[in-house]
Amino acid sequence: MTGQQTKRDGMPVLIVGAGPTGLTLACELARRNIAFRLIEASVGPQMGSRGMGVQPRTLEVFDDLGIIDRVLAYGRMAMPIRSTAPDGRVTMGGDIPEILKDRSDIPYPASVITPEWRTEEALRLQLAELGGAVEFGSALQSFEQSDEGVLAVVVKNGVAETVAARWLVGCDGGHSTVRKQAGIAFEGETREEVRMIVADVAVDGLGRDAWSMWQHEDGFLGLCPQPSTDVFSFQAAIAPGQNADLSLANMQAILERRSGRNDIRLHEPQWSSLWRANIRLANRYREGRVFLAGDAAHIHAPAGGQGMNTGIQDAYNLGWKLAAVTRGAAPALLDSYEAERRPVAVSVIALSNARLKQAIEEKGIPIRRDASTIQLDINYRGSTLARDDRDESAALRAGDRAPDATKLMTVDGERRLFDLTRGGRFTLLNFGATSAETVPAEVRVLSVVRNLKGRNEIVDSEGLLTRAYDPSDRTLVLIRPDGYIAMITDAGDLSAVSRHLAAMG
Ligand SMILES: Cc1cc2nc3c(=O)[nH]c(=O)nc-3n(C[C@H](O)[C@H](O)[C@H](O)COP(=O)(O)OP(=O)(O)OC[C@H]3O[C@@H](n4cnc5c(N)ncnc54)[C@H](O)[C@@H]3O)c2cc1C
Repeated sequence: MTGQQTKRDGMPVLIVGAGPTGLTLACELARRNIAFRLIEASVGPQMGSRGMGVQPRTLEVFDDLGIIDRVLAYGRMAMPIRSTAPDGRVTMGGDIPEILKDRSDIPYPASVITPEWRTEEALRLQLAELGGAVEFGSALQSFEQSDEGVLAVVVKNGVAETVAARWLVGCDGGHSTVRKQAGIAFEGETREEVRMIVADVAVDGLGRDAWSMWQHEDGFLGLCPQPSTDVFSFQAAIAPGQNADLSLANMQAILERRSGRNDIRLHEPQWSSLWRANIRLANRYREGRVFLAGDAAHIHAPAGGQGMNTGIQDAYNLGWKLAAVTRGAAPALLDSYEAERRPVAVSVIALSNARLKQAIEEKGIPIRRDASTIQLDINYRGSTLARDDRDESAALRAGDRAPDATKLMTVDGERRLFDLTRGGRFTLLNFGATSAETVPAEVRVLSVVRNLKGRNEIVDSEGLLTRAYDPSDRTLVLIRPDGYIAMITDAGDLSAVSRHLAAMG
């Protein structure tokens, strides 16, 4: 450290860490014109395919954020999987399950494989469009907090600067400095015996049409082509006593032994890492004015491809709430962040543990896609932000993800619901006769009508919206900025909607 500067700018939010979680949070704040700084200890973007599975729910988030076209262009949806058993039998998998195909309520039915650095790139570009930027080479060293805010010491090129902010969000990964200094325990286990070599390597002699996997008594081996690059992601389970060396020679030897093929040649890895099973959950997501999100709050096995997705959705949940509170909403709104997101991490850890156990036992990974990993059934039923007057047995309740619907006629032509709700605002779907004129101007009102007369009206031309929302002729549905249902009133109680909105922001 060569010097010290102090700047007390009282900015609303300091985000630590520009991985997918921090970048998503920054985009969420930037598009709402909330001032923030996003600091990143590394001097430039991270490489490596790491979190290469983007799940359908995250694709919806990216659709809302305006980066979906880029993510789809650089990725591949429903990557075919070719699995070779120890006896040489080949099974193909990875198809979109029939139950998820051609659904009006689900725009993205399967995960997209794309390198994590591509996802980060898309988010960074969007952040730049919104006028924000990552401060590379700037590391959080320490912080202290009071009732008024946080004072953080940020070091860049050996120069320390004191940054004042109202809120500090630690998106700084599994080794989170923020979590440690906030005194938040990271409970769980490290299983040194469960390891995996992961690397990005160019490969000769193997088609890029599918994710190739081999089951072998030594352990699982996978080579997944990374769309929009010339490399594959190499993944090999390393049992105790096996060589965990990250050299090309060791990877080539593992490949030949487990695949039984010597016609496939690996090139020098462009990026490599030895992954160890570290399965942990922060015992709370908030300490005063400090929040945790992403890997800083939860880490687990990559089996099931959930980690990055969960972090992005943490940020998507926290972003609009931080913006609302900065603009004057009751700070209690922020209590719902941990209440809604920590139970999701508990489920994700259980799911990835089950998948990891299966992968270890079967020395391979499941090739059939099912609904358990796509994150569309995440819900916040029971949250303080969820209110409805529906029966327990109703299929759609407050707290659920607001389903999409296609074939809606508007004055601008045919649209789907997600086209109309894009942009991170509250939306009130008005199925009834009630006039919704009294809701605040920031709330977008979409009225379902028989005959189109004006803007903000929709005709449910094929009844797909009705099928998804099962409304009465008075139903009002309030959709949160992050796409979950805040309120359903089949009684058409607009004053209840207004009261609930006032409490949220
Ligand atoms: C082999 C492997 C495969 C995976 N596969 C998948 C998958 O298919 N799907 C999936 O969803 N997830 C997957 N994951 C998990 C995924 O990579 C992580 O969950 C994801 O990167 C977490 O994002 P994050 O932004 O929370 O943290 P990170 O990406 O770890 O980013 C944290 C950032 O904070 C920065 N930082 C740290 N300390 C400081 C400091 N003091 N000051 C400033 N900056 C700091 C770091 O430099 C880093 O850039 C996989 C992970 C691995 C290892």
